[in-house]
Amino acid sequence: MTNRDTRLKIPAACKRHRSSRDRRGTVQVDLASLYAIDHACQGCTKDEKCCCATYEVCVTTREMNRIIGLLPELARLCPHLGADEDYDNVFEEVEPGLFAIDTTEEGLCLFAYVSRGKLRCSLHTVGLNLGIPLDHAKPKACLLWPMTFSEGEELLSLTSDALSFFCNSRKGRLSRSLCPSFVEAIELVYGEAAGALVKTEAGKGARNMVLPRRL
Ligand code: SF4
Ligand code: SF4
Repeated sequence: MTNRDTRLKIPAACKRHRSSRDRRGTVQVDLASLYAIDHACQGCTKDEKCCCATYEVCVTTREMNRIIGLLPELARLCPHLGADEDYDNVFEEVEPGLFAIDTTEEGLCLFAYVSRGKLRCSLHTVGLNLGIPLDHAKPKACLLWPMTFSEGEELLSLTSDALSFFCNSRKGRLSRSLCPSFVEAIELVYGEAAGALVKTEAGKGARNMVLPRRL
């Protein structure tokens, strides 16, 4: 974990599953913060600042169990994970029901691999290859980044260091449009109806909104 940013990819990923806001089944969306940037992931080279080597990524028990079921496929792309059912334990429990994904000495997530000179996510690749919905293969924290959650209540907003990554670019100060990749990520995580709702609210220039949370 050397050189590793101690922030989580989504700071409240650890806590929101037990919050009262969860029981109410809603998520607040800070649209104003999301209007500020465009985001497009095309993979990083090893020399570029990468989200897969910057944060500690936490997964729930359910997410971890789904990932464990994919280990034979993941290990084909990431041989360091082990082989022949003798896979390394790549999860560390940080609190009951919440597990951090282990990293290399350089701080790179153990599910990252290099393809054609770019860092890629093996969970993403295996999910696509096997026809598994991405929200069943990849941590929610990673699907949503550079969107993030605040501590406690579930509030979706832009991560504070987004502009330090080359894949995020600042838009005009008066921008009221939502980057398509944000809509896509919200659809993946909260459902298609949620994507349509954020587009409608963004079309009206709303600065914030409340979404029903997919349980
Ligand atoms: S989201 Fe950005 S920082 Fe993360 S892998 Fe893609 S290009 Fe790299
Ligand atoms: S799970 Fe995938 S997207 Fe998330 S940090 Fe690891 S390699 Fe990157």
